[in-house]
This record gives sequence, C-alpha cells and structure tokens, in this order.
Amino acid sequence: MTEVNIKELLASYDKKNLVIATACSHSSLQLFNGAKKEGFKTLGIAIGEVKKYYDAFPLGKPDEFFIVENYKDIMKCAEELQQKNVIVIPHGSFVEYLGPKNFTTLNLPTFGNRQVLQWESDREKERVWLEGAGITMPKEVKDARNIEKPVIVKYHGAKGGKGFFIAKTFAEFSKRVKHDKPYTIQEFVMGTRYYLHYFYSPIQDTGYKLKKGSLQLLSMDRRDETTIDEVQRLGSIAELEELGIHPTFVVTGNIPIVMRESLLPQVFKMGEAVVEKSLELFGGVIGPFCLETVVTEDLEFKVFEISARIVAGTNPYVSGSPYSELIQPDLSTGRRIAQELRYALKHDSLEEILT
Ligand code: AMP
Repeated sequence: MTEVNIKELLASYDKKNLVIATACSHSSLQLFNGAKKEGFKTLGIAIGEVKKYYDAFPLGKPDEFFIVENYKDIMKCAEELQQKNVIVIPHGSFVEYLGPKNFTTLNLPTFGNRQVLQWESDREKERVWLEGAGITMPKEVKDARNIEKPVIVKYHGAKGGKGFFIAKTFAEFSKRVKHDKPYTIQEFVMGTRYYLHYFYSPIQDTGYKLKKGSLQLLSMDRRDETTIDEVQRLGSIAELEELGIHPTFVVTGNIPIVMRESLLPQVFKMGEAVVEKSLELFGGVIGPFCLETVVTEDLEFKVFEISARIVAGTNPYVSGSPYSELIQPDLSTGRRIAQELRYALKHDSLEEILT
C-alpha cells in the first residue's frame, strides 16, 4: 500500500513549473528528450558524479543533475525534490535501485499507479491478473519430476534473466538447479518473441476506447539476450551443453520489430483485457506497460511477463515507431508520458495519473 497522499503532495507544487525526473539509466535519454519536446524542465538523478556521457547527447541531457551517493538516498532527499516540483517517472532500474518497498513509499508524485508493483512482482498475483484477463500464460510445472517438455527455470527477482536455465528432463533440471533461491518452472514456449509496448490513458478518450479511457500501441521490440540469441554461432545448444556451456538470458539490448498486421487485433484485445482487469483489481495500470509474448506456430500469443512501466525496449524509438508514427509523428513513449502530464495539467486531473 502506498502511504503517499498525492492530493496533499500536489497541493504544495507550483504546477506551472513541474520538473520531470528519473534516474540516469535505462530509458532516461528518451524520457528527458520526450519531456523537453513537451516543454518540461528535466532533472537527472545520478550516483557519484555527473554522467559525462550525457554531454554526447545534448537533446537527451537533463537540464539539471541531482547527485546522490546511493540511489536509496533519494528517500532522504524527497523534501528537497518536492521543493523543485519534481515528478518522478519510474523505469525498471529506478524501482530496482531504490528497492520496491522504498519505491512504494517514496514521498514524491510518481507517474503511474504504484499499486501495480505488488501485482507484477508476485508471480502468483501476476497469474491471477493476466489469466483473469483471459490471457494464456506458459504452463507452470509445480513438481520438477513432472518435466516432460522443455522448461525454463526462473529464479525470483533475478536481474535480466540472470541464472535462468532451460531443462528438457528432470535429470537435467536436477543437475543445474540451485536450491538456495526460490524459483518457478515454466513451460518453454516455442515460437517468436514480441515485446508489446502499450500506453493506457485513463483520462483521454481518443483512439481505441476502453470502458474508461483509451489504449495505444506505441511500439514493439525483441530483446537481444546473451548468450542464447547468438550461441548457435558456436554450435547447437545440445552440443554445447555436453561441453558444460549453458546458454544465458542476460539482456544486452533491444531490436526494433513489427508484427504481421493480421495479429494486431489480438494485440489490442490482450491489452484491453489486461487494462480492464487491472482497473477491477487495483485501480488500473496507468501509462506505459509491456506484455512480453511468444507467438506460437499456430499464431497464438503466450504472455510470460508483464512490465508495468516504460521498458527499455522502447529506446529504439526516440523519434517514433512504425506504430506511433500512425498516431503522431515523432512520438516516443517518453514523449507520450510528458504529453499525458500536459493533458492532465490542462484538465486538472494530475491525481488520476500520479500516485
Ligand atoms: P523474463 O525475465 O521472464 O522476462 O525472461 C527472460 C527471458 O527468458 C525472456 O526475454 C525470454 O527470452 C525467455 N523466456 C522467459 N519465459 C519464457 C518462456 N516461458 N518460454 C520461452 N522463453 C522464455
């Protein structure tokens, strides 16, 4: 539960001079760029020293840096940041660096619904949400002795898929598994991966309408994961595993992608159902979210994960994607967030998109 009283917090803000802030990592170049395009001042929270590489990207460089020794120190600086009229745009690294508990209680207006964190980080709750929305997820194998098909073993809270492994039999699983960390065993879905970048606005009714607000598809990507995505340059996975070389799933980058157009109706149906269910369960996933999917050879989607904020997979689209271009030229997810803030400011509805 967030203990932040957004109404009270915003009461002390100079709304004409809002400053968009985030941690200097992940999708910050895009977020600062998008905020600047919409006329906002920007502030980059960085550790230790000003990140020099921002000088190389003047249009993605924040107007001001706020230096902390440790990201957790942001908690102590909340008042100072309030005085600067800071609105936080959280991304995956921001939440991770601060820690989920700190994030939910951070006393700063934050874009999106912070309640979503508990529904996305708890694998069982995530299943209740997504399956409750009619989404097909990979089957879970509760007892490793029942492994009959390839599975992927995921350690809870693993960063960037670190430590995940594939097993095809119980014997293989037993050889690889580490019992010191909790894990989930999931059917390994065969197919092609698409990471779908949606934007849900509870306050704007243009475009693809939902019961409340509207939904956009801004872009999609495929993650580039080392070593699994290029391991075949050295030999087949089976061959390499015999030599004790196991593929890993560590994200190193993102590749732009488009999908065959006939699949788009399904993409919207899924996004719509996920938003409607979120409204019912916890007041809605507000702003950007991403469904991480595999499309099977029967052209069915299986969703193995949801990220309920801006994902780094939107970074290839600083100047728009083949989808956002059909909404408005030059529209990144970062810029879309800034536009939502502008719209809310104009219609006095900031409290509906900030928590
Ligand atoms: P995650 O941390 O759940 O996003 O998973 C990391 C990576 O593992 C994904 O980007 C996929 O490449 C892969 N992956 C995760 N779950 C599955 C699955 N059920 N079937 C196939 N690949 C998966």
